[in-house]
Amino acid sequence: MAQKKRKKDLNFWERIYVVEIIKGMILTLKNMLRPKFTMEYPEVKFEPPASYRGRPVLVLEDNGVERCVACGLCSRVCPALAIEVQASETELEKERYPEKFEINMLRCIFCGFCEEVCPEEAIVMSKEYELVFTNRDDAIFGKDKLLIPVDQLRDRIEFLRKFK
Ligand code: SF4
Ligand code: SF4
Repeated sequence: MAQKKRKKDLNFWERIYVVEIIKGMILTLKNMLRPKFTMEYPEVKFEPPASYRGRPVLVLEDNGVERCVACGLCSRVCPALAIEVQASETELEKERYPEKFEINMLRCIFCGFCEEVCPEEAIVMSKEYELVFTNRDDAIFGKDKLLIPVDQLRDRIEFLRKFK
């Protein structure tokens, strides 16, 4: 383990700080010449990779039916108690669907547990990171805001199949 240098052990040059200040300025100048990573948001938007965990969304199949079978696992696992699911029966093969599915985005901590536990790949973390609300009610996302066509979520689903 590196030994900590005490103040009384400093040599003359270190005690007057001039050399240390010059060293610091050289480091600053070096970093000024490096490539910049800052983006001029919102004019330039960040395009997240498939591994990014933006807001959780529900997968809407091409035939207009949501994948979710309202098993409630995501709701049970959510550490922030942000998900509310109410199940109902359907004539479709999947037998159950969520009559009500809500995520309170003021509670969500983007942990991705809901996505991890879902047996149907029905809830996934999207690339969306722009969340703005002016009141608490607007932060409760129902199916109207949660359902996203599967085509827009393909790379995340592929990513999950590879690494989940
Ligand atoms: S990402 Fe985490 S906190 Fe957000 S809804 Fe899913 S399980 Fe809950
Ligand atoms: S999103 Fe998945 S885990 Fe949550 S209720 Fe629907 S099927 Fe179950």
